[in-house]
Amino acid sequence: MTKIKIMSVRDEDIVYIESWAKENNVEYELTKSPLTEDNVDEVKGFDGLSLSQQLPISEAVFAKLKSFGIKQIAQRSAGFDTYDLELASKYDIIVSNVPSYSPSSIAEFAVTQAINVVRHFNAIQTKMKLHDFRWEPSILSQSISDLKVAVIGTGRIGSIVAKIFANGYGCEVVAYDPFPDAHIKDIVSYQTTLQEAIEGADIVTLHVPATKYNHHLFDQYTFNHFKKGSVFVNCARGTLVDTHALLSCIDSGQIKGAALDTYEFERGLFPSDQRDKKMNDTLLQQLIDREDIIITPHIAFYTEAAVENLIVDALDATMEVIQTGTTHLRVN
Ligand code: NAD
Repeated sequence: MTKIKIMSVRDEDIVYIESWAKENNVEYELTKSPLTEDNVDEVKGFDGLSLSQQLPISEAVFAKLKSFGIKQIAQRSAGFDTYDLELASKYDIIVSNVPSYSPSSIAEFAVTQAINVVRHFNAIQTKMKLHDFRWEPSILSQSISDLKVAVIGTGRIGSIVAKIFANGYGCEVVAYDPFPDAHIKDIVSYQTTLQEAIEGADIVTLHVPATKYNHHLFDQYTFNHFKKGSVFVNCARGTLVDTHALLSCIDSGQIKGAALDTYEFERGLFPSDQRDKKMNDTLLQQLIDREDIIITPHIAFYTEAAVENLIVDALDATMEVIQTGTTHLRVN
């Protein structure tokens, strides 16, 4: 019987792993730890390997996997930047990802958080906890339907965000994407540059992938083009944003507030339990402490639908490689 080793497993994954293994008549062994030099020997004897790896894999580990006859790693995430793909190819290991597991989950979260910032959710909660039930100008809000939204990147996630704001809330929606989506052209007005899309928008929501070319795409220069009092949403990748520049624009009043589900220095922190540890990241602590920022631990995707799709698509990819020698989800 085919045997798959599944690592970095979280509790909520187990029910979907069990049901997939039963349906596919596959034996599996799971572990909660990520793959490391210390535990790579556990992979010996398996036909396939699935990871949710956040830390890089060393050459020694790739070499061991090859010596065990492992031909693939099925990563259970869209991002695969943690892998050195050249190194994987050198050891004849096919790396696959799950490019799309529930774009609606992320889109819904981005819209919700944008509205929470516009509606001063954090400040109202703080007041509630103090039993301060007054209405006052500091929490006076705008009606979402009156707002102009700029969607930056209208791929799988951004196009759904655009539809929710346009069709659900009746907002005017502009967008910037070098490859416009013809399906949403009747509800979105595409602009020719990032600056044109941002200027005049009340909400700017970011949905582009992080690459080596767009580090700090949103820096002081870009933020200076924001409409005064606008709201910024990043449910994409932390490295796209210069956090210090964002903070300085919020402090100056140029930007009213932000919803951040990703943070440029999140690696090793999101997700993890830091409750009993000293917080050494003072920048993150500033983001957490502010009422005008809602920060969440890279959780926009985190729904039952997404968890199930990540498991099923990744494990299907392991079987595809075992049965055909490759997978349509390979990234190297
Ligand atoms: P996608 O590839 O379907 O779409 C990305 C779009 O961005 C494409 O249409 C592309 O043309 C466009 N684009 C690329 N560079 C651009 C630029 N400089 N300016 C404007 N547009 C640009 O990707 P997706 O599946 O929609 O994912 C979007 C983002 O969401 C990615 O950063 C991804 O990592 C992130 N994401 C976040 C979570 C979460 O839980 N927070 C989960 C999954 C994905």
